[in-house]
Amino acid sequence: MADTLLEVRNLKKYFPIRAGVLKRTVGHVKAVNDVSFDLKPGETLGIVGESGCGKSTTGRMIMRVLDPTEGSIVFDGEDITKLSGSKLRAIRRKFQMVFQDPYASLNPRMSIEDIIGEPLIVNNLANRKQATERVAQLLETVGLRADDRARYPHEFSGGQRQRIGIARALAVNPKLIVADEAVSALDVSIQSQILNLMVNLRKEFNLSYIFISHNLAVVRHISDRVGVMYLGNLVELAPKGEFYSNPLHPYSVSLLSAALEPTRKQKRQRIILKGDVPSPANPPKGCPFHTRCPRVMDECRIHRPVMKDVGNGHLVACHLHA
Ligand code: SF4
Repeated sequence: MADTLLEVRNLKKYFPIRAGVLKRTVGHVKAVNDVSFDLKPGETLGIVGESGCGKSTTGRMIMRVLDPTEGSIVFDGEDITKLSGSKLRAIRRKFQMVFQDPYASLNPRMSIEDIIGEPLIVNNLANRKQATERVAQLLETVGLRADDRARYPHEFSGGQRQRIGIARALAVNPKLIVADEAVSALDVSIQSQILNLMVNLRKEFNLSYIFISHNLAVVRHISDRVGVMYLGNLVELAPKGEFYSNPLHPYSVSLLSAALEPTRKQKRQRIILKGDVPSPANPPKGCPFHTRCPRVMDECRIHRPVMKDVGNGHLVACHLHA
């Protein structure tokens, strides 16, 4: 088995800003400005950050729903950055997405059997009879009843609908699932059921996950490693234990101070960041976080820090740790 399932290198996504009658390009929104990481088979990488930080855009580029502006994506040994047409369709079976809003992502006019079975039929992986059997199996795998296949999305609760979304993603035996805010729309009690289901499925099917969320507690529950994004940049990447006990980037420190109850050993003070996140159409020079960083130094306003491995697989982009 390959050591790396996914290699993302220097990924960027710039959206043009057009103005005037001729719709000339007058600038770019730098939604993702430099993201690199690897993912191992069976691993879960959590990607956290505030809304607008570029985490969903990163997920969509990996799924090849969006074309990267620059950078490369190598999946299972194949460079998929520029794949298109039938080659892209063929490899897409190996990576699937689970969305935030399970109701909006399920066609209300289709039965559950058609929703889950569609990818099997479209990809010629099963005939009608085989698809029906597989749908029944998948429904039981995700904790629903085989008989549920004749029902419609509106007959299910939010948590059940997310189980259906997961069953549909599993139908084509993917190697990677990108889950974008997959539990954010659910009640807290249901969130943990879906997270536990995803953990169990990962072991059963040797899946890898990229789990995108703004919720640090949810990410802690499911991830092996955690990446933090700010203004389109990956600013910290570390194994989960290391990240939650010893965050190094001042932005991660502030996020954790606001999100989690400190343990008795960790006497964290809540850090409230001043100012707003700068516009990705006009990101600051130097460190992207320098306009809000409580520990800013002169150097931070001039030079952009690069990701550096500081040991224990802990990478951080900050001049304090250069
Ligand atoms: Fe703060 Fe400077 Fe580190 Fe950026 S490089 S996070 S501004 S200390």
